[in-house]
Amino acid sequence: MSPGVTVHDTLARPLRDLRISVTDRCNFRCSYCMPRDIFGSSFVFLSRSDLLTFEEIARAARLFVANGVEKIRLTGGEPLIRRDLERLVEMLAAIDGLRDLTLTTNGSLLTPEKAQSLRAAGLQRITISLDSLDDAVFRAMNDANFPVAAVLEAIDAAATAGLAPVKIDMVVKRRINDDGVLDMARRFRDSGHIVRFIEYMDVGNTNGWRLDDVVSAREIVERIGREWPIEPAEPNYLGEVAERWRYLDGAGEIGVIGSVTRPFCGTCTRARLSAEGEFFTCLFAGRGFDLRGVLRSGTPDQEVLSAIANVWRLRADRYSEIRSEATRGTRKVEMYHIGG
Ligand code: SF4
Repeated sequence: MSPGVTVHDTLARPLRDLRISVTDRCNFRCSYCMPRDIFGSSFVFLSRSDLLTFEEIARAARLFVANGVEKIRLTGGEPLIRRDLERLVEMLAAIDGLRDLTLTTNGSLLTPEKAQSLRAAGLQRITISLDSLDDAVFRAMNDANFPVAAVLEAIDAAATAGLAPVKIDMVVKRRINDDGVLDMARRFRDSGHIVRFIEYMDVGNTNGWRLDDVVSAREIVERIGREWPIEPAEPNYLGEVAERWRYLDGAGEIGVIGSVTRPFCGTCTRARLSAEGEFFTCLFAGRGFDLRGVLRSGTPDQEVLSAIANVWRLRADRYSEIRSEATRGTRKVEMYHIGG
């Protein structure tokens, strides 16, 4: 089925990006996403039969592309935990009309061989999470005692494999890792990699979020700008999540994602598919549409295509714009479940 007509939601936002969670499991326990006291050894994750198969994911992706999707990001949990991921990457890379295929990982399983095989399978780019260069802070934040050095090696492996430019995501939390913002910026200036500083968000229901712990996009930009003059740069495309800031001395650029203080719902073109096939229209949604049920019911492609279009056409999400005391108690899907 070839790329079709792009569907738009009730706020005229086109369906352009699809984030696909391929597993709900992760080998880290980052406190802002998957705190260990809740997601400990007794927590029950999805069973293998709950998960969409690679064939089901590829079919769904093909139908999302036929509705206008141009970019797919593979996420988790930690996507590299899912075995033979290269097979899925190959299937997705073969979809007619898909312009951009990327993946977000914590880097812990990204060996040089893995980076090469993902690249060979058709992966184009990669985003690697690294919340601090301070080894003690990083080990505490991932709560899996995982060292900074290994993630830095993963970044090098990704670049060597040609998965460039590598984006490096740092979630900034006040009094936890925010004093490492300048070190992170300094480390990757002139590297060609793009560090994206992310405001700490009230995702899910388990991270005990407080506005007081948020370091605003404005403060991050001011801190870096005092050290190295920067200027805003035009977005690469409609719906780009990160604000782009370019170093005036030519050392490259950074990104800032201000979901809390600078919401960008107005241009949000992102759909999300959970590992068990629920179609979510917002990171902060309470529930999704059961696409797996449709995929497994023998429904022909044309009807699945319409089902996806109908869900998107009814979309009116803009959580970050309406975030307030009133939204504090709303039940939201957990971020690890739909991969951010
Ligand atoms: S809050 Fe929802 S609608 Fe707004 S940018 Fe995030 S995912 Fe999109």
